Amino acid sequence: MATKRDYYEILGVNKNSSSDDIKSAYRKLAMQYHPDRNKAPDAEEKFKEISEAYAVLSDQNKRQQYDQFGHSGIDMRYSQEDIFRGAAPDIEDILRGFGFGGGGRGGGIFDTFFSEGGGRREGPRRGSDMLYELAIEFEEAASGKKVDLEFPRTETCDVCHGSGAKPGTSTKTCPACRGTGQVNRTQNTPFGRFMTTSTCGTCRGAGNVIDAPCTTCHGSGIVQKKRKLEVKIPPGVDSGSRLRVSSEGEAGQKGGPPGDLYVELYVKPHKIFTRHENDVVMEATISFTQAALGDEILVPTLDGKASMKIPFGTQNGQVFRLRGKGFPSLHMSGKGDELVKIKVEVPTKLTERQKQLLKEFAEISGEKGRKKGIFGFL
Ligand SMILES: [Zn+2]
Ligand SMILES: [Zn+2]
Repeated sequence: MATKRDYYEILGVNKNSSSDDIKSAYRKLAMQYHPDRNKAPDAEEKFKEISEAYAVLSDQNKRQQYDQFGHSGIDMRYSQEDIFRGAAPDIEDILRGFGFGGGGRGGGIFDTFFSEGGGRREGPRRGSDMLYELAIEFEEAASGKKVDLEFPRTETCDVCHGSGAKPGTSTKTCPACRGTGQVNRTQNTPFGRFMTTSTCGTCRGAGNVIDAPCTTCHGSGIVQKKRKLEVKIPPGVDSGSRLRVSSEGEAGQKGGPPGDLYVELYVKPHKIFTRHENDVVMEATISFTQAALGDEILVPTLDGKASMKIPFGTQNGQVFRLRGKGFPSLHMSGKGDELVKIKVEVPTKLTERQKQLLKEFAEISGEKGRKKGIFGFL
């Protein structure tokens, strides 16, 4: 299958274009390439292409999916019927505006495009990409991890090696298409008559049919299997990071290569830490005497504990930096830091003795009678 063009490029819009811009770009192009008007041999193909681009970009969810993952994101989540389902009435309304006929809602375009087994082409076809969503612990995002994935996918049948024919039997030329793999079909739609060349339904485009189908895959050449796979998650990943494991997706058809497997990560929140780019951020509570006199405390880190000096006169909200205790950078060398934000706790219960001492402290500090309170003075 030829590489697909960028949907924005097809419509001549850019990523920031509003839905109105996209609609009017589609309108213009649809007018230009509608097969009823444009008799150029590639007009119909072109018209399908722009309609598909519009169907995706006019749908908030699909557009987001496409922005994030490109064509593979769309292929993974939506069948071609799905792509058009939402946009079909809209496309029809636009076309109706040009006098391209009426037609029942949702029917016309949709049927026209995809009545032939998804509008797919004959010949070897690359397998679909797959998406595996994987949750990992916060610390694992920093340390990296090896995980064993197990998931169902299609694989080439190893009994018939994908041919679909029972071993030892032969295949014969398809009588329906005489071996071409294609059939021509004329269809009347609300938009006029469409001549479509489509994949032969009898041989599914292969050009030949099987005498005795392989009993393992029932002639499809493909079997459903459970795949076990060890995947290495590199240190430094974040939620939304996607790892591509090439050729571990669904099996290709008719000798096409398999698709890729994408592992999308979700990093679980941590009860102490939050992440800010490659820095890890936490809050440490210390007493007001520790803040005033200074101390050395132990703080948790991604890989254990570290001791940290609190200098005397530390203020509430002050942030200390533990260099190199953050997340490793995924793409460059080096590591982020751990940022420790200090929260000074003021006691809510005092014994008589403690009260006495603090009063004395206030007196010595010349604080008596001032409204401000003693701790702001330190
Ligand atoms: Zn087989
Ligand atoms: Zn055929």
